[in-house]
Amino acid sequence: MAEYGVAGKTLKVDLDVRNLLMDYGASGAALCFNCGNCTAVCPLSENGAPFPRSMVRFVQLGSRQDILHSPEPWLCYFCNECSATCPRDAKPGNTMAAARKYQIRSATIGPVADMLVTKKWGIALLLAVTSLFYFAGLYYVGALKLPTQLLFQAFVPEEVMHIAGMVAGIFAVAVMGIAILRVLYWISRGRQSRYITISKKISAAIRSLPLVITEVVAQRRMSKCETGRPRWIGHMMTMWGFIGLFVTSGLIYMINPNLTNYPYSFTNPIQILANVSAAVLITGMCLILLDRRNHRATTQDHDYFDWVFFYTIFAAGITGLVVEAFRFSGLLMPTFIAYSIHIINVLFLIAFAPFSKFAHVGIRPFVIWYSKYAGLV
Ligand code: SF4
Ligand code: SF4
Repeated sequence: MAEYGVAGKTLKVDLDVRNLLMDYGASGAALCFNCGNCTAVCPLSENGAPFPRSMVRFVQLGSRQDILHSPEPWLCYFCNECSATCPRDAKPGNTMAAARKYQIRSATIGPVADMLVTKKWGIALLLAVTSLFYFAGLYYVGALKLPTQLLFQAFVPEEVMHIAGMVAGIFAVAVMGIAILRVLYWISRGRQSRYITISKKISAAIRSLPLVITEVVAQRRMSKCETGRPRWIGHMMTMWGFIGLFVTSGLIYMINPNLTNYPYSFTNPIQILANVSAAVLITGMCLILLDRRNHRATTQDHDYFDWVFFYTIFAAGITGLVVEAFRFSGLLMPTFIAYSIHIINVLFLIAFAPFSKFAHVGIRPFVIWYSKYAGLV
């Protein structure tokens, strides 16, 4: 930590934070000479939240408090229009992405988040832990044996599925809930939020809800990025694919909690919804990857944080489709091996979502809501 006197005030500069942010992808911030071009071209920057220049400055200074207390990382959709026009090639879009990672890391259990943000072996370790719990559960209920018929509950009893799903789900919801509250608390203590008058709070909170709903349903802010159309479509498909799979799981648990005669036939409406959702999700992810490839010059290469995210989605989606393919072929052993891999990946996805890029799903809508409510956007 270093201290500097600026305009009569003491400014605390945390060099560790600055170095960490550089490791997270904000290394270009060192090149910035603060011309402000990026903020001028950013289609999402507004008077109340002028980014990305301010964030680049905070990173240059290693100003932990300013980075954590800013809603701006969540108002940016990484379209990289700023990076394409930066005269210093400082890639301010990457700085915004690094600030998001830093907030996720700071709002969750740091060591676990570190494993999914930077440590290359982290995903292997966490997948091993998930597999251990899964097989220990099967062993505990005496179900670690090969089935003789193509029914999933003959291999993985419903109690194992229910308990594993509940443990992973409760853990994820608790971590995500705490992370959302922490981020909102930090932002409420930030520079931009000081001027909210109490009398306006309730009506502002209600009036800002439609924005959040359109944001969640149609990613309205992201659609403003002119160069990001294919990415927006990919984002929408990924999100709706997920929602379809989430609804499918909910329907199965509500209609058929004992998982009797599960899996369903291929013509069952719930099964059709599941398979279509998986296909939409995988197509959406492919579009996002393609768009990144087309904008290689202005964006950073995929880093480990991105790959964990892609792996998690592809692994859950593709293993689900592989299970269906084996099932369609009537292959007993391959179906159940693929089913185990699928379940482990889905449990991993649920349990560790708040530590990964999935945290966007929970944190971003709340920050947008708060920013609207506070008159920042
Ligand atoms: S356009 Fe580039 S050099 Fe100018 S303020 Fe933004 S990041 Fe810095
Ligand atoms: S990446 Fe796009 S949304 Fe984010 S700061 Fe740059 S121009 Fe704005």
